[in-house]
Amino acid sequence: MNDGLKCPECSSENVYHDGSLWVCPECAHEWNPEAATGGAGVENSEVRDANGNALNDGDTVTVIKDLKVKGSSLVVKGGTKVKGIRLVDGADGHNIACKIDGIGAMNLKSEFVKKA
Ligand SMILES: [Zn+2]
Repeated sequence: MNDGLKCPECSSENVYHDGSLWVCPECAHEWNPEAATGGAGVENSEVRDANGNALNDGDTVTVIKDLKVKGSSLVVKGGTKVKGIRLVDGADGHNIACKIDGIGAMNLKSEFVKKA
């Protein structure tokens, strides 16, 4: 499993794959290659938006439909822009962690957003 990936922290090439993350044994850094390489390290845990575009940490996305916020009466309106998303391994399908103005920190499903 050597496709030229290097640790973004210490540039070690002795990195290995652990689940959806890469791990560096030399500095114990863990990272998602989607974010670190801009898509060069394609893998099956890739998160895609409603249009099938790959999403990366730090992307800005637009919510495509009104979404109820679980456990509250708040609604994230369709068209809301969400800056600086973070991809997470959401077992329930909520694979984007983000912070929305007026709502706060929450998780979204990538199928309900599109890359802005
Ligand atoms: Zn390292």
